[in-house]
Amino acid sequence: MTTLSPILKQATPVVVDHAKGSWIFGDDGRKYLDFTTGIGVTSTGHCHPDVVAAAQEQVGKIIHAQYTTVMHKPLMALTEKLGEVLPAGLDSVYYANSGSEAVEASIRLARMATGRPNIVAFHGGFHGRTVAAASLTTAGTKFRSGFSPIMGGVQIAPFPYAFRYGWDEDTAIDFALKELDYLLTTVSSPKDTAGFIIEPVLGDGGYLPTPPRFLEGIRERADRHGIVLILDEVQAGVGRTGKFWGHDWADITPDVVITAKGLASGFPISAIAASGELMAKAWPGSQGGTYGGNAVAAAAAVATLDVIARENLVANAAERGRELRAGLEGLQNDDPRMGDVRGLGLMQAIEYVDADGNPDAATASAIQQAAIAEDLLLLTCGSAGNVIRVIPPLVVSAEEIGIGLDAFARAS
Ligand code: PLP
Repeated sequence: MTTLSPILKQATPVVVDHAKGSWIFGDDGRKYLDFTTGIGVTSTGHCHPDVVAAAQEQVGKIIHAQYTTVMHKPLMALTEKLGEVLPAGLDSVYYANSGSEAVEASIRLARMATGRPNIVAFHGGFHGRTVAAASLTTAGTKFRSGFSPIMGGVQIAPFPYAFRYGWDEDTAIDFALKELDYLLTTVSSPKDTAGFIIEPVLGDGGYLPTPPRFLEGIRERADRHGIVLILDEVQAGVGRTGKFWGHDWADITPDVVITAKGLASGFPISAIAASGELMAKAWPGSQGGTYGGNAVAAAAAVATLDVIARENLVANAAERGRELRAGLEGLQNDDPRMGDVRGLGLMQAIEYVDADGNPDAATASAIQQAAIAEDLLLLTCGSAGNVIRVIPPLVVSAEEIGIGLDAFARAS
């Protein structure tokens, strides 16, 4: 008998029969509140009727039309729609299937545009599992150990993880910026540095919002040295943080934005956006792939962006995020294991620590498992595995946030 590879280690025993909105219906007859959203993907909830209708209609027209051979209308519509939400000046877009592919493409773009080799990523960052994306990833050793050597030209700079250092945020930011300067001027040279890549909120690394002043400091150094600033919005983008882009929390404009996950409510598609001038530094053939910008996924993405605008889902993410955060902080008052409660919008997390303040992965894992018995699905993250992340869909209601918080309290 053929079985699924054990590499696909499942965090819950749930087998889905069907799903709707914030809920997954298991083949065991149980109904689970899904605060995992397929790892931050089902932004408009499971099977939003508009997304389903758009995909169904598109399947009957054309499923696949390779975009370097013939163009299809959903991709043209999506490009126009993205133009309404992308930062000013990032007016050139192309498409892949996954976050990792988009990360790879952004690295190639930065190197081709500058003619320089090095890419600087940050401690705790997660950028994917392809060889280049994994090389930039330090959200946990499991993502890169055992198959080295990986891509060359990667430098990892400190991230201002104030809670872990036991510092106040300003001290952590000053330290991380000084370390970045040291890396750029002493360890290596800006003349060798093509790009910075950073998430607006570290995702798998522990749901750590990147402090605006840190992001602004990186922008300033990118400008000073002619380095391409890549914002990896794969997990934090498309409304999840309560603003459309995660980097909207800071006063910056990136050179490249990468988006995926929530963009099409579950259909695989990713987009890479930059200025036309920057994009022109890469040549045809250097980017893209057979399935990139699939027609059905593009139609679902257009429907997703429409739903997000029409149902005010970015505002809903902000409001429901405040309720979720307040509820978690209320629980934290009586639970010393909840060392840090943090996040933005509907990207919230709890970092668990033991009595000595050290990472406590066992507690995070035990609560995540106990939550399943309370019909609540959660995921862990963090380089030490001691963080529970809470990622409801952007359509989540106040009532569902309350149900989730009650279940979480019973599981804790
Ligand atoms: N970048 C970020 C910030 C992510 O969170 C992820 C996936 O979790 C990726 C890149 C990789 O995306 P994918 O798994 O679609 O390749």
